Amino acid sequence: MKYPIYLDYNSTTPVDPFVLEAMLPYFSTDFGNAASLSHLYGWVAEKAVEQTRKQIAQFVETLPEGIIFTSGATESNNLALFGIMRQYRQEGNHFITAQTEHKSVLDPFKRLEAEGFSGTYLSVDSQGQISLDALEEAISSKTILVSLMAANNETGVLHPLAEIGKICRQHRILFHCDATQALGKISLSLEKMQIDLLSCSAHKLYGPKGIGALALSRKKIRFRLEPLLFGGGHEQGFRSGTLNVPGIVGFGKAVELAEAKQAEEASRFDSWRRYFYESVCQQLSGVFLNGKWSQALPNTLHLSFAGISGNRLLSHLKKIAVSSGSACTSASLEPSHVLKAMGVSDDLARASLRLSFGRFTTVQELDEAILEIVSVVQELRATMV
Ligand SMILES: *Cc1c(COP(=O)(O)O)cnc(C)c1O
Repeated sequence: MKYPIYLDYNSTTPVDPFVLEAMLPYFSTDFGNAASLSHLYGWVAEKAVEQTRKQIAQFVETLPEGIIFTSGATESNNLALFGIMRQYRQEGNHFITAQTEHKSVLDPFKRLEAEGFSGTYLSVDSQGQISLDALEEAISSKTILVSLMAANNETGVLHPLAEIGKICRQHRILFHCDATQALGKISLSLEKMQIDLLSCSAHKLYGPKGIGALALSRKKIRFRLEPLLFGGGHEQGFRSGTLNVPGIVGFGKAVELAEAKQAEEASRFDSWRRYFYESVCQQLSGVFLNGKWSQALPNTLHLSFAGISGNRLLSHLKKIAVSSGSACTSASLEPSHVLKAMGVSDDLARASLRLSFGRFTTVQELDEAILEIVSVVQELRATMV
């Protein structure tokens, strides 16, 4: 069976061959436990981990001590939200987030509400943007944490991080940012954007699955964090458990590659995004962009197609691997919470596609994908009764 063209890089990326090569020795000869500091095996592993810690810290502009390795962004988000809210419950019980956040932010917050915390879920406009005025208005003396993502995983829409960071600092509130989609695609700085906690994951930037980090800002503002996992006291007690050394090494290599390639890839993907959108719009009417063109990730294009039945769209697109604007629940297609928050109708949300390009995408693949989408939409429209 022939694999379809992969245009789903926001869901996960293949491991870059250079990343794989860097990881391999740490599965075999250099297999040591980074916490076994009584012999050479441990020293080698520990050295590799600490080097990566420094590298990632530099990339997001914080200190190496600020990097806590986790199993991925879901864990990082959980650690940040539970960790801060529970640690500081004496000082306030209120958090602020947005309706369009990832489920790994929304679900922990739901859980925290069941524990007695209360939250404000900022709404977004039709282009997925929050209002900074609404953010300021939501802040009360009980607010201790704001959690807003860098880039939306579905639409690619960017939040104005520096402005959000400034507001949080002024009000002495901690700012957590789920930067999983943004890392390696746009530049991020805990320092410049005044982010206190940042979540990320290696498998969204050509690293392996199962490794991520929570980055804490330089200790200008001191804060603590209640751990989720207890045990050997690894990662300064923030996250017990034997470190995933090959994963960490791969994460480091992925960050190194991202640093070198980010600017070139961003401009290439951005021109592809324009080319893709314009080509589709030239051949089809009733195509809607979900998001804001000028405030979005360069590699992400989220489109809705009027006049077709959404549940037939994905099953007809056999040549490309993409995500849709809906998730299959038991019996029906449930439109995504992100599109719903943007006011996209259920029908259009179901009839939408998220296209996300990446390092190994070729122009020829894009042309084939455009052809496939145009012909499938035309066919579905022709058979619509
Ligand atoms: C993929 C993703 C996550 C989850 O990351 P994992 O490492 O797979 O747990 C969280 N937030 C965003 C925005 C994502 O895109």
